[in-house]
Formats: sequence, C-alpha cells, structure tokens
Amino acid sequence: MNIELINIWYVIAAALFIFGLKQLGSPATAVRGNMLSSLGMLIAVVVTLFNAQIISFQWIAIAALGGAIVGAVVAQKIEMTSMPEMVALFNGSGGIASLLVGWAALYSGQTTTFTDITILLSVVIGGITFSGSILAWGKLSEVMNSAAIVFGAQRFVNALILVALLACAVMFCQDPSVDSPYLYAVIGLSLVFGVMAVLPIGGADMPVVISLLNSYSGLAACAAGFAINNNILIVAGSMVGAAGIILTNIMCKAMNRSLGNVLFSGFGAVKQASKVEGEVKPINTEDAFLILEAAQSVSFVPGYGMAVAQAQHVVRELGEMLEANGAEVTYAIHPVAGRMPGHMNVLLAEANVPYDQLVEMEDINPRIDNVDVAVVIGANDVVNPAARNDENSPIYGMPIINVDQARTVFVLKRSMASGFSGVDNPLFFGENTRMLFGDAKDSISSVVAEFKT
Ligand code: NDP
Repeated sequence: MNIELINIWYVIAAALFIFGLKQLGSPATAVRGNMLSSLGMLIAVVVTLFNAQIISFQWIAIAALGGAIVGAVVAQKIEMTSMPEMVALFNGSGGIASLLVGWAALYSGQTTTFTDITILLSVVIGGITFSGSILAWGKLSEVMNSAAIVFGAQRFVNALILVALLACAVMFCQDPSVDSPYLYAVIGLSLVFGVMAVLPIGGADMPVVISLLNSYSGLAACAAGFAINNNILIVAGSMVGAAGIILTNIMCKAMNRSLGNVLFSGFGAVKQASKVEGEVKPINTEDAFLILEAAQSVSFVPGYGMAVAQAQHVVRELGEMLEANGAEVTYAIHPVAGRMPGHMNVLLAEANVPYDQLVEMEDINPRIDNVDVAVVIGANDVVNPAARNDENSPIYGMPIINVDQARTVFVLKRSMASGFSGVDNPLFFGENTRMLFGDAKDSISSVVAEFKT
C-alpha cells in the first residue's frame, strides 16, 4: 500500500478516535464510543502492517499473540477494585514501548537532528513513565508502603538528576549512535528520575499521579511517532497526552490542590491531623429501616467500600424501594471516590441506576441540608469534614460531599478504620451520625429485607 493511501486510512482512524472520545463523555454512549475507538485502533494497526518497510512479520505476530493472551487473561481476572493498579501497569507498558521504539529508531542509521531529539524525548519520557508507573503500581497494590516518602535533600537530588540527564542528552546529540555511552546514561537516569518523581507522592494524591503518568505515556508515544515518522502514533499519542493532562487538572481541582503542590509537597508527610475523639452511635438495620421508611429525601454517597462489597446492585434495589415509598432518591458522586476516575459512575451504571439520579458534588452540596438521610456506603475521605474544618489535616482544602450537614447520616463500613489517606474522620462522631457497622452489601441487603417484610 502506498504512503498516501496509508495516510488516508490514518485520517479515518483518527476521526474514529475523536468521535469515540466524544461518546465516552456520557455513560449512555460510552460503550459505543469504546467500540468506535477500538475500530479506529484496529484500522490503524492493520494499515500499518501494509507498510513496505516492515522487516519481520513473524516477530510482530509473536508479540501480538503474546500481548493478546496476556491482555485477555488479565482483563478476565482483574477485580474492579484493582483497576487503578492495572491502569498503572498499562501506563508503564506504554512508556517502555515508546522507550524501545525510540531506541530502535536509532538503528535505522538515517537520523537527523530533529529525529535525534524526538528519539531522546521518547526515551526520556518513556523511561520516566515506565519506572514511575511501576512504583505507582507498587504503592497502589500495597506491595510496598503507599505513603509519600520525603527526605531532606530530595529536591536538590532531583534537580541534580535532571541536570545530569540534560547534560547527557546534549552530549548524545553531539554524536548520536546506538553505541553512545550517553544514550545508556540517558536511559538509566530517566528510569531513576521516574522513581524519584513518584516517591514523594502517596496517600490520597495517588489518583493525580496515575492520570499524570497516563498523560506522559501519551506524550512518549507522540515523540516515538515523530521518531519513526508515523502519523497515527503522533495523533493517538497527543490525544492521550492531552486527555491525561485534562484529567489531571480535573483531579487537582477536585482536591483543591495545585499540580505543583501534589508533585512536590509529600502528602501527609508534614501535617498531622488533630486527634478525633467523641462518642460513636451505632445503629442496627431495623432502626435504620424505620428512619429510611419515614424519609422524604435520601442521598446515597458511595465510595471505595461499595466497590469492595460489590453492593451496587442491592443499593439500586433499595433506591427503587425508597422511591416507591415516595422518597426523592439521589446518588451523590465525588470526583475522586473509589480508586479510579469515574469508578462510582461505572459501578452504578453496571447496576442500571438511572443517570438522572446521579448528582455531582457541586450540585448536592448546596441542597444537602434538605436531605433527610445521607447514606454513606463505604466512603470515608470524600466525606471527611476535617477537609473543611481542620487546617492541620493533610486533606484540608479538599472539597468533600458535606454529608455531615444532612439531617441524618448513616455511615456503612466495617470498623472505625480510616480511608485511603489514613486520616481519622470526625464524621463518625457527629451528633446526627449513626454508624451501621458491617459489610455494606450485607447491611443494605438486611434493610431491603426489612422493606420486603
Ligand atoms: P476511602 O478509601 O477513603 O474509604 C473507603 C472505606 O470503605 C474505608 O474506610 C473502609 O472502612 C470501607 N470499606 C471497605 N470495604 C468495605 C466493605 N466491604 N463494606 C463496607 N465498607 C467497606 O474511600 P473514598 O471513596 O471515600 O475515597 C477515595 C480515596 O482514594 C481518596 O482518598 C482518593 O484520593 C483516593 N484515591 C482515589 C482514586 C480515584 O481515582 N478515585 C485513585 C487512587 C486513590 P472499613 O475498613 O472500616 O470497612
């Protein structure tokens, strides 16, 4: 196939990516959007295989088969609650792929200064993305301590690594070749820098680093696209890069933090939240049922615990019963609830909760004092009033769903344990709070059973 024809197919693939992304913006069209984007990717891959410069189809077939088997097995096995770790590994794979593509481009022996720079960019950004993502995976999967690790001269050491990286990159450009020792120094320093960049990030800041690494993986792919002169890689990489940055920005806003603050301040490493004390008022499912039965408006506030308990179906069932009983039912979604962006939306959509009952934090907060019962299902950090009231709290300033201002709050969780950020929650001791201890699915099922009898 000649290059003009290949490029025409690439334009079609890029258009499919764009329409697919647009449709991913709403839960109602997301599945179709996913299919369209996948079709675009299939076209891009198949058309690329018609490129006359391909040297070995055997290796491509072996790699594609190996990747497909690993992907299929992992996608089947992965729990919904482990998706962020999986995304971290995806980002890391994208990073290492771009590093290898950039490196391999050097073997063509026909590079210009421009391609040398793009090769360096794909190696550097790809290397940082790879090692940073592996560390993020370790923190998220709790293979290692997920806390931020900060030490005295950290910024100075990071600055030194960056300067050394830049110096080696310049030296490499003087005499670019696959044998250049500076190339190996650049690869090594990029990998080290990826680790150093993610070390001081931990706790509740991890979602931001995941979306930032996602953006880096796109930028690395974009640079690799320039390095091997492949238009669709440039387009797809820049889309991922832009989408990741937009998401990072949304996450930072959701936590009321600047990106610089997330990247450099070390979550919770300096601040210590004030000690929380008081009386906890447990409630049983019979009493919870009586209060819910009398409620005119009920707002469910799901969090990570709903995903762990897989309580979304039974929550929807309870929602329907409350509606049939005459109550107004809403599901209030915090942008960083759960362990990945959109986590709660995905779970509730899976349980067929009507989209018009989903309300965002900004919409529920102004009217939350009119909510009779806020039912917190395995959420903790995203409803922690310390973020509003305690200047010493590591999560101070993060916008929360103000469930403490509802008339009554039920908190469904198994114990008094803290959430992802490790910060105590004064909500549990609130005057209007009742703790319904136990697995969220069991607790809600018992309330549903009360409704049925
Ligand atoms: P949290 O992690 O703050 O709290 C979850 C709570 O669920 C825990 O306190 C736990 O308490 C409870 N829980 C766990 N299992 C069950 C169960 N089976 N039944 C009932 N309760 C259960 O979750 P939030 O959603 O409130 O906050 C998300 C946090 O994760 C934020 O700090 C956010 O920054 C961070 N994060 C978010 C990401 C994202 O993209 N959304 C990605 C990575 C991190 P107990 O053990 O007592 O049951």
